Formats: sequence, structure tokens, C-alpha cells
Amino acid sequence: MSDRLLPWLVPALITAAVLPASSQVTIPLTVTVSPDRAVLGDTLAIVVNASEQPTVEVAGTALPVFSIGPQQWRAFVATTPLQTPGRRSLMVRAGNEIRNMLLWVGDRSFPVQSIWLPPGKDSSGTDLEFDRVDAFKALVTSERLWQGAFRRPNSGPVTTPYGVRRYYNGVFAKDYFHCGLDFAGPKGSPVVAAQWGRVALVGRESQGFLVHGNTIGIDHGQGVLTIYLHLDQIRVQEGQMVEAGQVIGTVGNTGASTGPHLHWGLYVNGECVDPRSWLAQGWQ
Ligand SMILES: [Zn+2]
Repeated sequence: MSDRLLPWLVPALITAAVLPASSQVTIPLTVTVSPDRAVLGDTLAIVVNASEQPTVEVAGTALPVFSIGPQQWRAFVATTPLQTPGRRSLMVRAGNEIRNMLLWVGDRSFPVQSIWLPPGKDSSGTDLEFDRVDAFKALVTSERLWQGAFRRPNSGPVTTPYGVRRYYNGVFAKDYFHCGLDFAGPKGSPVVAAQWGRVALVGRESQGFLVHGNTIGIDHGQGVLTIYLHLDQIRVQEGQMVEAGQVIGTVGNTGASTGPHLHWGLYVNGECVDPRSWLAQGWQ
């Protein structure tokens, strides 16, 4: 009996393994880029419809690609004020099909501050905090945990916008930009999770977070992360799942901070992007 079944079973199993039910219809490779008019700091979404998992390369670098529906995938392109505006090559490949396109990222002027520091007054922080924050920024996990637009993490006014450039003692800091938004909520005011996610970093000033202060980092999945700095209280633990709007801590003045405020940053594929489009509409 088993001899007779085998010729039927084996091809059926191979077919099932190679072609999941959803991919049995071959569709042409199509690529959609949004927004139309991106500027430095924006996040671009490359949405690909294809019969099989595509690869996406921008300027020769492969990006993380995640399934977002039947025969549909997405890669995010993160841009920052430190990048050169203009065009970037985009190559999308799925099976034997290739699409070569150009992305355009427009220039944008960012506010500039001049900071005068007395000699020896810069706090350089500890290896421990930078190593742990770097490890957090490198996280790219496959499951999308966020749903819709991101929320403001504190109800205070924004006092320093994204992307501010600085002169220190008259010298332009070419590698510096303000990597997030500062909210001037009073000390003790609630800080909420901007979206659903998993707490992937908790660091405390008492452990050596001398620059960042009391810190929470949330992994929202698919390379999207948010970080909350200078907190007073921390009310979550590493590994904990949080809901959008859940109180995770309170505004403080810990670390290298000159007054109570929340510094909030949003990272995509390890790059610090402008949160405004994520706050306005988010991505599915
Ligand atoms: Zn800040």
C-alpha cells in the first residue's frame, strides 16, 4: 500500500513546500515608493508586489524586507540630516525579474543652535550605556507589533524639534543632529509607549547611563524602535509587552539633561528618522 502511495505523496509534498498556497498565481513584479516628495529625515516605504520574496537594494545596500500581505512585501528606507540629498539607486529583484529605479530625497534646512561649553564640561558617558544603546538600535525583529499612527509620548510642548544642528564653541558639529523630539512635560508627568511593542532596553543612571539617564527602548518590530531618555521613574521591565498609550515611566532630569524633559527618538533600520510622518499617519 505504501509503495503505491509514494509516487503521489512525494510530488505533492514537494509542490507544497516550494509553492505556498498564496503564491501559486504568478503576478508581475511591481514596486511602489511613498511618499512622492521625500526630504532628509523622512522614512520611505518601498512596497513590492511579487510572486516570491523580493530583495531590495538602495545604493547597493540590501534592506530588511518583510511580508505585509499576500504576495506583498515592504522595505523601509531611513534618511537623516547627515545624508546627501539627491538620487539613490533602487534595485528590486524577485526571481528572474528586476526593477531598477531612482529614489529622490530632497534637501531640507534644519534649525541651528550655538552651544558654548566651559572647558572640561562635556560629559562623555560610559561604554556600558553606549554599547547597550547601540545593541538596541541594531534590533530588527520580524513581527510587526505596531498598529497605525504613533502617539505623542508626553503631552508637554515640543521644545527642540528633530534634526537641529549645532555649533559647539563656534565649531560646526558635522556629525551631530538632534535625534528626536524633546517634550517639556513637568517632572513626574506620564510618559506613554508610542505604540505596541516589546521593551527591549531598560537602563538606569545608577548603572552607568550617565548621558542618557534613565532609559527605555521599545522594539515595535520590523526594524522600528522608539527610545525614551532622561526619565525619572521607569515602570516597565525588559521583555515586557506594552500597549500603545500605556504609561511606561515619568518625565525626569536624569543623565546629561539641564532640566526636566523627555527626549524621544524613533529609529528605522538603526537610523534616527523624523517621527513626524509616523505620528501623522503611521504605516500599516
Ligand atoms: Zn533631545
